[in-house]
Amino acid sequence: MNQTQTSPKVIVVGAGWAGLGSAYHLAQQGYDVTLLEAGGYPGGLVAGWKTAQGRSVEAGIHGFWYPYRNIFSLVKKLGLNPFTDWTRSSQYSPNGLEVESPIFQQEPRLPTPLGTFLYTRFKRLPLSDRLSALPLLYAVIDFDNSDEAWRRYDSVTARELFKQFGVSARLYKESFEPMLLVGLFAPGEQCSAAAALGMLYYFILAHQPDFDVVWCRGTVGEQIFRPWVEQIEQAGGRVLTQKRVSDVILQGGKATGVVCGEEVFEADAVIFSVGVTGMQKIVGSSASLRQFPEFCNLMNLSAIDVLATRLWFDRKVTVPLPSNACFGFDNTTGWTFFDLNALHDEWSHEPGSVIEADFYHANQLLPMSDADIITKVQRDLATCVPEFRQAKVIDSSVIRLSKAVTHFSPGSYPSMLPGTTSLANVFMSGDWIITRHGSWSQEKAYVTGLEAANRVIDRFGMGTSAPILPIEPDEPHIQIARSANRTMRELASSFLPPLWLP
Ligand SMILES: Cc1cc2nc3c(=O)[nH]c(=O)nc-3n(C[C@H](O)[C@H](O)[C@H](O)COP(=O)(O)OP(=O)(O)OC[C@H]3O[C@@H](n4cnc5c(N)ncnc54)[C@H](O)[C@@H]3O)c2cc1C
Repeated sequence: MNQTQTSPKVIVVGAGWAGLGSAYHLAQQGYDVTLLEAGGYPGGLVAGWKTAQGRSVEAGIHGFWYPYRNIFSLVKKLGLNPFTDWTRSSQYSPNGLEVESPIFQQEPRLPTPLGTFLYTRFKRLPLSDRLSALPLLYAVIDFDNSDEAWRRYDSVTARELFKQFGVSARLYKESFEPMLLVGLFAPGEQCSAAAALGMLYYFILAHQPDFDVVWCRGTVGEQIFRPWVEQIEQAGGRVLTQKRVSDVILQGGKATGVVCGEEVFEADAVIFSVGVTGMQKIVGSSASLRQFPEFCNLMNLSAIDVLATRLWFDRKVTVPLPSNACFGFDNTTGWTFFDLNALHDEWSHEPGSVIEADFYHANQLLPMSDADIITKVQRDLATCVPEFRQAKVIDSSVIRLSKAVTHFSPGSYPSMLPGTTSLANVFMSGDWIITRHGSWSQEKAYVTGLEAANRVIDRFGMGTSAPILPIEPDEPHIQIARSANRTMRELASSFLPPLWLP
């Protein structure tokens, strides 16, 4: 087939995991794919670049957890070898080291969630506090990622959920809230309980090895996105940067083009792969999309500020484990720090320490000057590892990511969009799009990109659908508990009138 003349034209908007995922698959299937990216380089929230001094930086360091089966499979298919080995991690508070996690897949496998509780080395948290999590298992069983489960739990805050199930104040403050701040970028009172249950189950509870993580041995931009974009282009796709989409042209209830500054790109199908804030800006400027309530409803959603810093020190400070999460330093902010000498090839022989420190829900930090931010980062680092106090910062990078990551706020679920829209040839993808796959973050973004590509393939009947690996099935005892719980619910709803709030 002569591709440019006869293949359906697909415009993909946004070059993060989601957009690149759909563009790659559709280009391989012979579609005429153009990917329009507003920024200067592909990667979205995972983009990386070099400073004026030629040092690599990125919009926050990104981990790849054990259940990221689709991303691991892609990287293999691309012939890349970007990852470190599985790494152990620590948690710090202002009191010092709190928790050390093993590599869970190296421990004898126990039925979930026993391994998570028994193998995690808590340094201070008493056993009685840890045991107070047990009643929460009911909610974990009850939340099965279905639409009904989301509607049942989404209007409740995660903090209320943990309180309702009797989780001790200390376990909440020292374990669950730090996980929410790092996994959902917000404190418990600002997180949907549905999102909290979904995220915790996926990353920690579903199977013992799920919390195991690898990192790229350099920026994800350099290690994965650059070679991936090359392969998209080799397959005939076009990846155009500095192209900010502002509108969609509609005719007869279908999209026929995408507006980008003075240019119009013709389209037989459009895939939006932009974050919440980007989509709100498009709807705000689009005379066509704002005719549809589902797009106007997106204005009810919100996004969260993140801060990514990188510090180069004049000497090597020994950091016990390469990846570290921290809590209790600021009321509503969680942060992580990483020993890049251990993780990134570029810094392995550097005479001084290179540390990435990323702050989530960093609203109050964004207005501070770079110098004040770096002073704070060094102070916080020294609280965890005291030798940082004597070290001198010789270079630094501060990247402010305003309204960058999805806020799964209580009550936000009904305003989120599924992968299909009321426009038959406009599809949605990204880490905030509703999918029943069950994954989160980068893996979810990539999976929804593949789902969007498959919807295009269904529509035009050309090419083969992208294989999407499902998440590993629930363990047998969880399957039995879920099935019994569903039966009880159905039974109850058959004779109880629906008087109560879900
Ligand atoms: C500091 C930080 C740390 C994180 N850590 C992890 C981690 O450890 N593990 C993990 O799995 N996830 C992590 N995440 C989350 C992860 O980055 C996201 O889930 C994922 O990158 C989202 O991908 P996406 O394709 O949905 O969207 P994005 O990456 O947001 O891509 C959207 C793209 O659309 C473009 N765009 C927006 N508007 C327009 C427009 N009008 N026209 C054209 N293009 C437009 C944007 O420029 C962007 O490139 C982290 C995020 C941050 C910020």
